[in-house]
Amino acid sequence: MIGGGQLARMTHQAAIGLGQSLRILAVSLSDPAAQVCPDVVLGTHDSIDDLRRVAHGAHAVTFDHEGTPTEHLLVLQEEGVAVYPPPQALVYAQDKLAMRRRLRELGAPVPEFAEITAVGDVDEFWQALDERYGAKAAMVLKAIRGGYDGRGVWLPDTLDEARAVAAQQLDGGVPLLAERRVDLARELSAMVARSPFGQGAAWPVVETVQRNGQCAVVIAPATGLSDEVAQRAESLALGLSRELGVVGVMAVELFESVDGELIVNELAMRPHNSGHWSMDGCVTSQFEQHLRAVLDYPLGDTAARAPVTVMANILGAPTAPEMSMDERLHHLMARMPDAKVHLYGKAERPDRKVGHINIVGGPTGDRVGGPTGASGCDFDDYVAAVRERAELAAHWMATAEWTDGWSEHG
Ligand code: ADP
Repeated sequence: MIGGGQLARMTHQAAIGLGQSLRILAVSLSDPAAQVCPDVVLGTHDSIDDLRRVAHGAHAVTFDHEGTPTEHLLVLQEEGVAVYPPPQALVYAQDKLAMRRRLRELGAPVPEFAEITAVGDVDEFWQALDERYGAKAAMVLKAIRGGYDGRGVWLPDTLDEARAVAAQQLDGGVPLLAERRVDLARELSAMVARSPFGQGAAWPVVETVQRNGQCAVVIAPATGLSDEVAQRAESLALGLSRELGVVGVMAVELFESVDGELIVNELAMRPHNSGHWSMDGCVTSQFEQHLRAVLDYPLGDTAARAPVTVMANILGAPTAPEMSMDERLHHLMARMPDAKVHLYGKAERPDRKVGHINIVGGPTGDRVGGPTGASGCDFDDYVAAVRERAELAAHWMATAEWTDGWSEHG
């Protein structure tokens, strides 16, 4: 696996059960996956020699991030390495403009977009949006490559602001695209897996809650989604994985507009934050499924184990608390024996993803924390209660503070 981050760490965890072992290309022995894998190659994803050292002799090569240059992957392919997802597919997760163009060709729903190579292109696109949407016209500017967690995405409110962002980024050599700003009801993610044999599998569609451009919470499955819309999203994602020739898991990040439209935001061809809930909430986790797919095993059952599972990211606090992570964990376990904690072995820094919590709802859809089978609780209350516990736990782990005032020594 190219990259030694938390996704590689959790993939390694899944590999153990399959009798497999990952070799990791990591930058440092302190990378999250390098801490737990015996087979580490130190190097970087942009060196072809380092890539060769990790790839040759492996059954397949896969990724924990999307930064590896296409030309290097093509070389590996020519040398007989099974690169999954293949670079011919991966490019659509690396290059937002190529992705928008290909998806439009395939008839997938995408927002209007334009390549921005000069500030004048911003004026032209703004005007086109204005003519079509009038007062509702709004724009997003994006770096075509390299953005993540909202970095490389700008939401200008005026044309002047948009021009200023474009001028600054283009001057700095950052290729840009502009797209219509969708009036969002919420964001969804449709995750699928595909094997070289051609088998496909879809997990239930989830809602992703973003804060400061970063995923904070995932509600799985998304609530209030009609069967028809959920099926449409799953078919779209399965269809794209087939058309693009993806091998491994893929997350199709979707916008649900206030008018009920589904629009593709972007593609991720690797285990994804929106799939972390599957570690505890599904029969087959995304990490196991990714391995099954890239090794061309039959795919696993993607059924949910409960009516709802909520994942909350542990995001580094503005100032790391004095209480050690281990002591926080100890108190969390004492208060919430059902909380499933996944820590990444990363130093705490503000807003950095250092772990996540999964709370799997009671199997009957009743209020958690109460006796199972208790009546008088509707589904929305049940989901809200599961979400509250997941967020309470994640906030505690990040800050050593209980937002509900609970005292661990009380
Ligand atoms: P990243 O690659 O950093 O994840 P995204 O393209 O997913 O960047 O954008 C980050 C966030 O910005 C999205 O999750 C969404 O909240 C907002 N956003 C991006 N594109 C649009 C758009 N066209 N309309 C409305 N909001 C958008």
